[in-house]
Amino acid sequence: MRITKQVFLDLAIWMILFGLLIGLVFPWFVILLGVPKSIAIQPGFYIACLGAGAIAGLANWLLARLVVATRIRVLADGMQKVELLLRDINSNDNTIECNYESCSIIVDSEDELGESAKAFNRLVKTLADSLETQNAVHSFSEMLAGTLELETLAENSLDMFLSHSGSAGGAVFYDSGGEMKVAANRGIKNPESVAMSDHIQTALKKGTTQRIPIPSNVQVEGVLAEFRPQEIFVIPATYKKIPLGAVVLGKTEAYHAEEETRLELFRQGFGLALNNVLTHDRLQRLAALDPLTGVYNRRFGLGRLHEEFERSVRSNIPMGLLMMDIDHFKNVNDTYGHQVGDRILKSIASIIRTVLREGDILIRYGGEEFLAVLPAAASEDLMLVGERIRRSVEDSSVIEGQQTIKVTLSLGGAAYPNQSVEKESTLIQLADDSLYQAKDTGRNRVIIAN
Ligand code: GH3
Ligand code: MG
Ligand code: MG
Repeated sequence: MRITKQVFLDLAIWMILFGLLIGLVFPWFVILLGVPKSIAIQPGFYIACLGAGAIAGLANWLLARLVVATRIRVLADGMQKVELLLRDINSNDNTIECNYESCSIIVDSEDELGESAKAFNRLVKTLADSLETQNAVHSFSEMLAGTLELETLAENSLDMFLSHSGSAGGAVFYDSGGEMKVAANRGIKNPESVAMSDHIQTALKKGTTQRIPIPSNVQVEGVLAEFRPQEIFVIPATYKKIPLGAVVLGKTEAYHAEEETRLELFRQGFGLALNNVLTHDRLQRLAALDPLTGVYNRRFGLGRLHEEFERSVRSNIPMGLLMMDIDHFKNVNDTYGHQVGDRILKSIASIIRTVLREGDILIRYGGEEFLAVLPAAASEDLMLVGERIRRSVEDSSVIEGQQTIKVTLSLGGAAYPNQSVEKESTLIQLADDSLYQAKDTGRNRVIIAN
């Protein structure tokens, strides 16, 4: 029964008409109640009744407007705000200014209007969640693209995995030659034992996230984590179905559906990024290491020597070099063959590495020549380390069939600071000269330049 294009104007017309109708009928009604016709049917009373009817109609309309229209206006304003926001995000790529708290509206009735408000709030919640997820995935992808370093990737990813899922703690693991190693950890008590858990293997085998509820009667405090998890997520990181690592997260309450969605989206990007980082790492190694002995190759090693030398000069701390050459190695090759020679080379490199300290640098300088860079080592230290290496090689042997092959090593050393040393090539030259002297004076000995 529409009259105009405005619902409330229609309502006003209908209410005033209804009021007038009441006003028209009212005098006849009072006659039925015993009021004399001469009093009821007269212009003054008629006009008063019609006026009262019209005023009642008008008051009804005003009340309807006040009660209903204001609520509909709130709903409309809310929708408009969300609409503007969506348009803003799509055009300007802005961050979300609308969350559930700021965009939802008050529900103050239990009728259709209340239901509409509730439905609107649910819509806002879904929208805010999905915008938050979109934003989270965007910043996660940006972070992933920004690093090619395993530790940084693991640390940053774990932070984002935690903050976007409300997790209390977790750890990132990566596959290193078939073994799971810890790359980052927050609040897991013994991550190495978690790395060996069947759950990680299951997740990697299935390629899907494993959701593990922890019943409240199971005691995990002090064993697994520094917090009391109610649910654990084991997220496999794979690339083209190849297992590369895993992320384990724990939360003190159950995960929400939206958080689960977010973690699944993160998982896909993380697998790809982890693959890039591990591939990059492998390539770096290939470029830096000598394939036979696994120590630095000459090109990369000399670069490291340069860095260490500069650091020594800058900080005025000593630095030592040891040049080493296997004695009569040509004979070994001639007697046992090149392949056995290679085995011996490998074993010598490993012996030298065992004697050297963590921060020392070992370089395959030439065919059977090695160069060791010993940061903070002065001449006396070089002599001690050199002797230890010489003796270890002398005491070692390589078994080939029935034969035990033994070789010896000559070493020449030089340390910075030294009056004549201003660049690292001079230091190499001094070490080389010392090595030459060691060869010249009988081999299997250490000579350090003074
Ligand atoms: P010395 O140093 O005591 O004077 O005698 P040497 O016989 O060891 O002489 P030199 O240092 O010149 O040795 C070079 C030999 O090292 C030649 C080659 O047979 C061997 N050699 C160099 N590189 C390799 C390698 O990669 N594998 C093997 N098996 N042998 C190598
Ligand atoms: Mg040589
Ligand atoms: Mg030699």
